[in-house]
Formats: sequence, C-alpha cells, structure tokens
Amino acid sequence: MSIDFDAVIIGAGFGGMYMLHKLRQKGFTARVFEAGKGVGGTWYWNRYPGARCDVESVQYSYQFDPDLEQEWEWSERYATQPELLRYANHVADRYDLRRDIRFETRVSRAVFDETANLWQVETGQVGGAAAKVTARFVITAMGCLSSPNTPKIPGLEDFEGPTYHTGNWPHEGVDFTGKTVGVIGTGSSAIQSIPVMAEQAKHLTVFQRTANYTVPAHNKPLDPGYVREVKANYREMRRRAKTKPAGIDFTINSASAVETPEEERIRQFQARWDYGGLGFMASFSDLLLNDDSNRFAADFVRAKIGEVVKDPKTAAALVPKNIIGCKRLCVDTGYWATFNRPNVTLVDISDEPIERITPTGLRAKGEDFAVDCLVLATGFDAMTGALLKVDFRGRGGITLKERWNEGPKTYLGLTVVDFPNLFMITGPGSPSVLTNMLPSIEQHVDFIADCLETLRNKGKTVIEPVPEAQEEWVGHVGDVSNITLRSTCSSWYVGANIPGKPRVFMPYIGGLPAYIQACEKVVANGYEGFALA
Ligand code: FAD
Ligand code: NAP
Repeated sequence: MSIDFDAVIIGAGFGGMYMLHKLRQKGFTARVFEAGKGVGGTWYWNRYPGARCDVESVQYSYQFDPDLEQEWEWSERYATQPELLRYANHVADRYDLRRDIRFETRVSRAVFDETANLWQVETGQVGGAAAKVTARFVITAMGCLSSPNTPKIPGLEDFEGPTYHTGNWPHEGVDFTGKTVGVIGTGSSAIQSIPVMAEQAKHLTVFQRTANYTVPAHNKPLDPGYVREVKANYREMRRRAKTKPAGIDFTINSASAVETPEEERIRQFQARWDYGGLGFMASFSDLLLNDDSNRFAADFVRAKIGEVVKDPKTAAALVPKNIIGCKRLCVDTGYWATFNRPNVTLVDISDEPIERITPTGLRAKGEDFAVDCLVLATGFDAMTGALLKVDFRGRGGITLKERWNEGPKTYLGLTVVDFPNLFMITGPGSPSVLTNMLPSIEQHVDFIADCLETLRNKGKTVIEPVPEAQEEWVGHVGDVSNITLRSTCSSWYVGANIPGKPRVFMPYIGGLPAYIQACEKVVANGYEGFALA
C-alpha cells in the first residue's frame, strides 16, 4: 500500500499549526484535517462574549520564531478571543500553512495496518463524501478542551428558543438586547461571559450548581514601554517561565502559608490580588499541599465576596465551599459586581438539580423561570473527549476506547501501547491544562518532530512505547497527583463533570520542568521506553 503523507495531523489549533510548520521544516510531508472552517481551535470555537486568555498574552504566545515574537503586537494584558484568532490567522498566513490543511473535515476513524506499518485515516467532509488517506504517523492536536459537554437535562430538546453553548458559539455573535437569558454553569466560560451578557440582556438568570473561586484580571491595554521591554527580553522571560511548574513567568513565594504570621500572610495574598491573575495561587508554595494553607487562601477570597455583593443571600450563595484550586482558578472582570445589577438573579441549584427545561424556560427548585434563550456554559468532556470520538484502532484491532475504559493510560502523555506511530499533543498524562499551554504544545511538537527525524536517520519506520514504560509513567502520574489536594476533589481534571467517566486525575501535575527533564532523559537514553523497528 502506498503512503500519501509522512504524517496526518488532526486539528488546526495552536498545536496542529505548529506541528505542520515544524514537520515541513524537517522535510516531512503532512496533511492537517480540521473540523472547523478556519484555524485557531479554541479561539475559533469559543466566541462567547468576554472570552479571553487567562495567561498574559505576552506569555500565551508562540516562542519558536523570535521574528514572529517581535512583529506581533498584543494590545491588552489578556487578549480577547478576536485578537487571539487574528494571531492564529496571522501565523497561518505567515508560514503559508493553509495549503496543507483541509478544513470542514472531521477525522472519524484511524486504523493501524500492521502489515504495511501505516495508518489508514478516514475523514468525513461536512456535506461531502468520506475519504481515506494513508500516513506513516498520526499526530493528534485535537485539544484538551474541544469536545463541548451538553448535559442531559430533561426537556432540553423541547426548548423553543435558541440554545447556545459557549464552546460552540455562533460566528455572527448573539444580540441579547431585550432578551431574558438563562445561563447554566459558573466555570471560567460563564464567569467571563456573564458580566458582558448582563450589560445587554433584559434579564439574566444564572443557575449555579457549584460556586467557583475567581480572582480579578485587572486587564488593561498594554503600555508600549512595557511591550518594548518584553520584546527586548523575550528569551530570558521564556527561559524563566520554563523553570516554573505552570510554565508561566510569575514569582512563586517559596514560603509556607501556615508558617507565615497572619499579618504577612494577608499582605502576600492582598499583593497578588491587587496584581491580578493566576499568580494568586503562587502566593505560597503549599496552597495545594496543605489543608490549612489552602483554607487561608480560600478564606481570603471568600471574604472578598461580601465586600462586593450587596445582597447577603446572593453573597452567601456565591461563596465556594470546596478547596481553592480544585477546579482551575477563574480570572474575571467584574463577575461578582454583576450580581448587584437589578437585571441579574442567581439561582443556587447546589442542593437540587434543574428539574427540567420547558418549552419556555427552566423549572428548578419548584419554580418556573421563563427565558427567551439558554446559554450552556457547561464545559467540556476534557482531555479524552475529542480523542475518544475518533475510532482509533491499534494492533490486533484494539480500540482506544477499550484501552482507556478505566481511564487514559499513556507513556509521557504522548503515546499509547499498541498504537504504534500515534502521537498525541498534550495528551492525558502530560502537563497540558495545568500549564501555560503554548510552551507545553511547543515542547510536544519539538519532541515529536525530533523523534520522527531520528527514526528517519536510523532507517526505522515504527515507534511504540513498551508496556513497562507506560505502566511506570502512569504510576508516576498517579503518585504525584496523590500528593496534591487537587486529586481529593471533583473537577473535570478527574472527569467528574461527565457522568460515567472513570475517575482518574488525567493531567501530569509534577510540573513543566520535571516533565521536560523526563522527556529529555528518554531522548538522551536513545528513546528509552520505546521499541523501534
Ligand atoms: P484546540 O485549540 O482545542 O484545537 C483542536 C482542534 O482540533 C479544534 O479546532 C477541533 O475542531 C479540531 N478537532 C478535534 N477533533 C477533530 C477531528 N476528529 N477531526 C478534525 N478536527 C478535529 N490555555 C492557556 O494556557 N491559557 C489560556 O488563557 C487558555 N484559555 C482558554 C480559554 C477557553 C475558552 C478554553 C476553552 C481553553 C483555554 N485554554 C487556555 C486551553 C486551550 O485549549 C489551549 O491553550 C490551546 O488553545 C489548545 O490548542 P490545541 O491546538 O491543542 O487544541
Ligand atoms: P467548566 O469549568 O467545566 O464549568 C462548567 C460549569 O457548568 C460548572 O459550573 C458546572 O457545574 C456547570 N454544569 C455542568 N453541567 C451542569 C448541569 N447538568 N447542571 C448545572 N450545572 C452544570 O467549563 P468552562 O467554564 O467552559 O471551562 C472549562 C475550562 O476551559 C476551564 O477550566 C479553563 O481551563 C478553560 N477556560 C479558560 C478560560 C480563560 O479564562 N481563559 C475561559 C473559559 C474556559 P459543576 O461545577 O457543579 O460541575
């Protein structure tokens, strides 16, 4: 059987785009299949009002080409979705990526042919016929947060008005002027969009199952002097970022919260609060390791709610009860203050699920809420959702779904036993969603491209992890997750948001530096843990 491409790449978000560029640079042929009509992935789909990054733009950006870094101008501390999408399109144009991308084409199945040592990849084009291509390698760049979760709330299909999911927002936008809106969910997407939707809507009712922690973004236009300074020092900033567990260049206070006197502790929290953003969790080194330290941070944030929200009942309902950092910390602009608006109501459904969706609204807690439209800010089937929608078949016809029926198992978050020549960018078992994802993506792409080049130089055509190496890595991922408080609570990190999903802490929580070191050791030892043929 002939080979159409050295590699098929699935997805044209930041991961797939850089993978294509890198493979071309190394002289490989590649074809990208992307379900959407354009590049950008997350920033193509998540067009809800208020969408923006929560890692500062100068850090949440590619670093593989210093010229790209110098020519691109970020306008705000946290870029909006339209700006991030413009950036993705600029990258696609600059490196002439589109000619090797097939848009509106979803990969449905990929089968490894053990005789010819290649992958047969089946695609279905939106409104078109199915097609098949062959490739030596398949590289998934399908995203950790790209499979929207629509909860099975009774009656959802009976609703007569429009329903919007934040993760698949209409491209033409939505005008909420004069409309009554029901929002389900209070995660990052809701916390970003609620303040903006509330400014337009006649009335907004927020249905909250779990109150969430959020810190202020203090977003602002970027000062030209600051941008000049960043541009002059990009290399050093990127290097520093890679020494931090989250791959973000912020200062981590090495002190323990419990061992710090109260006055100083509060001063530290307040300083981080005033600065804004995810660095709040780096106020002390043990916030996710020690219950008491975590409680100090949680109490600090909880106390802020009462200072902002005027109605005591609403303020009390907004106070999160779980540990801080259990779910990804949200970064907001005016979230709590939005509940002081006369056109915004919070409905606490923590004790009783939404009874049903009716043709004209929602029924919850024995009350009917009439709404013109529904917004589902209900998140994603994270980390494994997109991967398991594709019928991957490895050696002996084994499916990835069967292999992962007790939760995902990978070697380095990059490869799976019995799935030769299949690589995953930011797969489960890699730091991915616990980090600034751009450097994590680039590290994976570089690893994969170097690996393919090594195979070519050695005259090898097959690479796959050996079971012992995978078991050891899975064990290590589990061990480090058990050290932190994060594994003790329910979040999408452990699949708790999807009924029936096996409970496994999916990302690698050992931090980006430890992960990079592990990958470098594997390479230095001649791709230790892999069998090459
Ligand atoms: P994605 O951008 O998710 O792209 C995957 C692509 O694969 C999609 O375009 C999808 O259509 C395509 N695809 C999937 N399955 C198939 C298939 N079967 N066939 C064809 N195509 C397919 N991370 C941060 O580090 N900082 C942030 O500030 C941040 N903000 C975020 C905000 C939102 C609203 C969300 C949802 C996520 C955010 N993330 C953030 C995580 C974000 O997903 C990553 O930063 C990054 O954009 C992921 O890039 P990717 O290329 O790996 O995946
Ligand atoms: P999410 O964090 O999973 O939040 C989903 C929300 O929907 C939760 O409040 C959840 O409640 C609620 N929900 C789900 N099913 C429900 C049901 N049946 N009934 C009532 N409520 C229900 O999803 P997200 O907000 O889209 O964010 C996902 C991730 O994407 C984030 O953690 C982050 O990594 C990324 N993101 C980042 C940004 C950013 O700031 N740059 C913005 C958006 C997203 P429970 O908590 O009770 O399950």
